[in-house]
This record gives sequence, structure tokens and C-alpha cells, in this order.
Amino acid sequence: MSRSNESIGHLVVIGVGLIGGSVARALKHAGFVGRVTGVGRSRENLDRARELGIIDHWTHDIAEAAGDADMVLVAVPMGAYDRVFAELAKALPEKAVVTDAGSTKQHAISVAEKHLSDSSRFIPAHPIAGTEQSGAEASFAELFEDRLCILTPTENSDAESLALVTAMWEATKSRVVSMNAKQHDDFLASVSHLPHLAAFALVNAVRQQGDDEHDPFQFAAGGFRDFTRIASSSPEMWRDIAISNRDALSANIDALQAELAELKQMLESGDGEKLLQSFAAAKRARDEWLEKHGESL
Ligand code: NAD
Repeated sequence: MSRSNESIGHLVVIGVGLIGGSVARALKHAGFVGRVTGVGRSRENLDRARELGIIDHWTHDIAEAAGDADMVLVAVPMGAYDRVFAELAKALPEKAVVTDAGSTKQHAISVAEKHLSDSSRFIPAHPIAGTEQSGAEASFAELFEDRLCILTPTENSDAESLALVTAMWEATKSRVVSMNAKQHDDFLASVSHLPHLAAFALVNAVRQQGDDEHDPFQFAAGGFRDFTRIASSSPEMWRDIAISNRDALSANIDALQAELAELKQMLESGDGEKLLQSFAAAKRARDEWLEKHGESL
């Protein structure tokens, strides 16, 4: 097994989609990886990934690919974690390091701890980068440039594995930060998972106002398009994220409902002054956020 602190000999990517494909492209581009084996279900997607030079070989069989892996990246939807880690555990070499890209981290850790004989070599990660597209074809090497990648190591995490996974994500040009998994899931519930649910809900609410004669979407313009862009994301992926972070997400739905209830009350009482204050506070917070972080979005 060839592995140093600064590069990976054999990388196995389970799930060669937008994220897995983009990591493989970025690491090849950076010269951080020797060969890449892709594992997935769709032959068409894997053939395309090989044609595009994202992976060097592919197989449908996790155990076959992982047998001589130096690093394994799990980049499948959260709902597939249990099956994937159970398979991985059967063949993972003792020294191999595992990381992932999943959007919720407590679930990733609990699945890894359930299946891996040595879960200290699993270093959970979540790149805060993406698009509403799926599949290898949609992947690109620059996806992670200057974007955060949040690692959520546990107190049992192996230091050498953490250093290698940090170096790997840095080689994708991510800005790597660490926090605990619960904090991660709570923050992401509010700034990522809630907005996706709100976008799905808004489109459904508008859709249901239509009838045979009237299509409300025909009057929608740029504002509606901006607000609802993420409602074009993969329904399966978002089902899995929502279910795997359901407690934090429920609390955030309560917070949004309370905000909407307050706005409704202001409307009903015709309280323009309060509405103005509420809109102005939101505008201020968003403008400040863009000023501080807009460059890297
Ligand atoms: P994607 O749909 O583009 O790719 C997922 C790939 O996993 C597909 O090729 C699919 O065939 C494969 N797959 C599914 N089940 C499998 C299984 N049992 N075994 C092997 N392969 C399987 O999705 P993506 O956007 O690349 O998301 C991958 C992971 O990254 C998800 O956990 C998601 O939550 C997370 N993530 C996504 C984004 C984003 O914006 N898209 C951002 C950060 C993290």
C-alpha cells in the first residue's frame, strides 16, 4: 500500500456523482492521487465517468474495490449509508482511511461506528459546495475552490487519518474547518436544510393554486426563480437529508412557522411599521452576510 501524508495511492470513490466525481477530478488535477476506482450502481454513469477521465476503473462491487484502497470516499445519498458501510466493512484493509461527503454528520458517524471494526480511521466531512445537478457528467474540478469543507472528527479519531483527510480536502482547494457533528447538523439544518424544505413547500403551495384555466407559474419571474432554484435539487437526496437530520430540521421548521405567524399577524392588523422593521432586519442581516462572505459564495 503506497500512502504518504501528502498523497493517496489508490482512491476508491463510492458514488461517482456530482460530489464524488468533483473530488476525483480535483485530486487528479492537483496530482494528489495515483489511481481512482469508482463504485456505483449505474453502468452508464460509470462508463461516462471513465470516458471523462474522472476514474480509471469501475466496479459495482464495493468489497472488490476496497480490498486494496488507501483512501475511500463515500459520496452516496444518506439513505444508502447503512448498506454501503456494511459492504465496506467486509473488505476494508486495516490501514485504509475513510472519509465521506454526506450532508448530515451524526448519522454518518453512527453508521460508521455500527459497521467498521476500527471507526477511528473514518473522518467525516461535508464540503459546503454543490449545485442542483446530479451525476458524474455534472462534476467539475473547481467545485470546491475556496469553499468550506467541514470535518467533524470525534474524540476517537485517529490523528494520522485526520491529517491525511485534511490534506485531501485541502488538495481540492477547500478551506477546511472542524466542529462537532451535532453543531454541524444544527447549523446546516438552519442555513441549508430548512431553505430546501421551504423552496419545495413554496413551489407546492403555488402549484396547488393553479387550475385548468390558470397557471400561476406563467406570471413568475426572476424573484421566484432565485428563491426556488434549489427546489430543482434531487428529491431522493433531499428526502434522505431531511430524514437523517429530522430533529434539528423540525426545530427549524417551528422557528420558520413562528416567523410566518408573526408576519401574518402584522398583515392582519395592518401594522406596516412592524412589517418594515422585520423586513429591514432581514435585509440588514443578509447584506452583512454578503459583504463578509459574498466573495466565496
Ligand atoms: P449524485 O446523485 O450526483 O451522486 C450520488 C451517486 O451515488 C450516484 O452516482 C448514485 O448512483 C450513487 N449511489 C447511490 N446509491 C448507491 C449505492 N448504494 N452504492 C453505490 N453508489 C450509489 O449526488 P451528490 O450530489 O454527488 O451527493 C452525494 C452526497 O454528497 C450526498 O450524501 C449528499 O448529501 C452530499 N452532498 C451533496 C451536495 C450537493 O449540493 N449536491 C453538497 C454537499 C454534500
